[in-house]
Amino acid sequence: MKKTIYLDHNATTPVRPEVLEAMLPYLKGHYGNPSSLYHLGQEARKAVDRAREQVAHLLGVKNPEEIAFTSGGSESINWAIKGIAAVQRKKGHIVTTKIEHSAGLNSCKYLESRGWQVTYVGVDWHGRVDPAHIREAILPETVLVSVMHANNELGTIQPVADIGRICRAKGIPLHVDAVQTVGKVPVSVEDLQCDLASLAAHKIYGPKGAGALYIRPGTRLQAMIHGGRHERDRRAGTENVAGIAGLGAAAEWAQKNMKQKEKHVRHLRDKLEKALLSKLECTRLNGHPTERLYTTSNMSIECVEGEGMIIGLDMQGICVSSGSACSSGQTEVSHVLKAIGLPVELAKGSIRFSLGWDNTAEEIDSVIEVLPGIVNRLREISPLWGDYKKGVRKSVISKEAA
Ligand SMILES: *Cc1c(COP(=O)(O)O)cnc(C)c1O
Repeated sequence: MKKTIYLDHNATTPVRPEVLEAMLPYLKGHYGNPSSLYHLGQEARKAVDRAREQVAHLLGVKNPEEIAFTSGGSESINWAIKGIAAVQRKKGHIVTTKIEHSAGLNSCKYLESRGWQVTYVGVDWHGRVDPAHIREAILPETVLVSVMHANNELGTIQPVADIGRICRAKGIPLHVDAVQTVGKVPVSVEDLQCDLASLAAHKIYGPKGAGALYIRPGTRLQAMIHGGRHERDRRAGTENVAGIAGLGAAAEWAQKNMKQKEKHVRHLRDKLEKALLSKLECTRLNGHPTERLYTTSNMSIECVEGEGMIIGLDMQGICVSSGSACSSGQTEVSHVLKAIGLPVELAKGSIRFSLGWDNTAEEIDSVIEVLPGIVNRLREISPLWGDYKKGVRKSVISKEAA
């Protein structure tokens, strides 16, 4: 087996050694229940309290009680959306965007099936939502605006602070899916003017199955999991102590190393992007040219299928993802690539590299060396590429540029 080169950090990240260190005691000797009064329970309680402070600090939150722990990004997002809906006296309206993560989209779809109204605001060619369009979508019945901070497929960063200002002026709560930005760029709930914010440990070198929801004081939110009085009556169930301790350690590590990490990863990402765009004909970059996470590069490579590239790269030990998936013989294009209006031919050939702190220059060099060969082999068997080479078909990308 070849050495693994992992370039799919937007899907999940490896647990950092210092995070694992912080978790281990609570999987070993310190197994007490944080609700228990004796010393073993109180040690676990301390770990949960400490993690709450670490997460609060990362979000610029003074009072750690404004952080509630959950099982991850999806739970936090479900809770924010359904929890706001559940406290309303009558069914109302929600504003969101077309490019949200499926956790946000499907929470809204669920509410629609229960008689709610939802407006899915579109985005531009770069995946950016226009705050004016959010303002226009707000109705007298609107009870929540929910937008993501950065998109997981494209890396495009939304003008959330501008949206926050609009919501604040209208007195409508704003939920931000900050799963992709927390720990990568400074995220201050004050600056974003949001009332709820979701995050997940496993996207920032923490464990899977742990996350948090920031809840601004005064935000009326229904509990979704009922039982004991955990998390100040907001989310019942004995705490995932080891996972929470890991989330706290990951938050602290991310905050300490953010600047240095950005420099390293941005350099590698830019190098990869530049080299591939120059080496591969008929290739374009998707997402915003500048307002984009420094970790993410989404490209469309014409006349090849994303899945072919994934399999070819996997045989070389390289892990990436694609914006299309083949289900029952049909290529399905991601809702995000559809929303930016990417022609289907280009969406099918999309590939996403998402880099992390652990990547090295040698790894990037390997990808730059390996991918063109894979693309050429796939193009050799593509009738479309044959037509392009014969000059009987024009490239979608060159047409687009013209
Ligand atoms: C990964 C991700 C989620 C879901 O988080 P989980 O912890 O996997 O449930 C939600 N939103 C975005 C933007 C993500 O990248």
